[in-house]
Amino acid sequence: MEIAQGDITTLRVDAIVNAANSTLLGGGGVDGCIHRAAGPKLLAKCATLGGCKTGDAKITPGYKLPAANVIHTVGPVWHGGRQGEPELLASCYRRSLEVAVEHGVKSIAFPSISTGVYRYPKDLACRIALDTTLTFLQLHPEIEKVLFVCFSEADFDRYSAGLDQQNRKPQHCPQ
Ligand code: ADP
Repeated sequence: MEIAQGDITTLRVDAIVNAANSTLLGGGGVDGCIHRAAGPKLLAKCATLGGCKTGDAKITPGYKLPAANVIHTVGPVWHGGRQGEPELLASCYRRSLEVAVEHGVKSIAFPSISTGVYRYPKDLACRIALDTTLTFLQLHPEIEKVLFVCFSEADFDRYSAGLDQQNRKPQHCPQ
């Protein structure tokens, strides 16, 4: 697991993850950036997918993006945290990684899902992103690299601190 700062649409990886909405028909934020960079074929392909449920993920080609694929996932809108938001956000990371494995994706980049227009508190979202991904990778060594792409310096610092904290946790040593 690594952290990068910048624009996810510039990355040459097997897949970038899009924080989409349930129609998959484009929106603002990172979704808008990805559609602009991928070109109109991406929207045409998304229109054939029948939308996507919150917490689920679907894959398309990356078209004009340097990334080969886009995995579209739909994060929960934050309503205070008692409407299943943590489970749904964890599911976004897990389902995106499952879809990645099913399609032979070995390098994948995530934005900070739900923390823009969907208002998920950034610290809570960061912990879910890191913990869910670590748990998945322990069971799926076929994924070689996961990048967390932070759009702001504050996000970069948050993810760095989260990763440090994870590395300091005692590791389970088999007897
Ligand atoms: P959501 O609707 O899931 O909240 P947003 O696109 O509004 O999605 O925001 C999700 C996160 O993506 C935010 O932290 C935002 O700063 C970040 N973001 C926006 N554009 C980009 C980009 N081009 N590359 C990486 N991250 C981005």
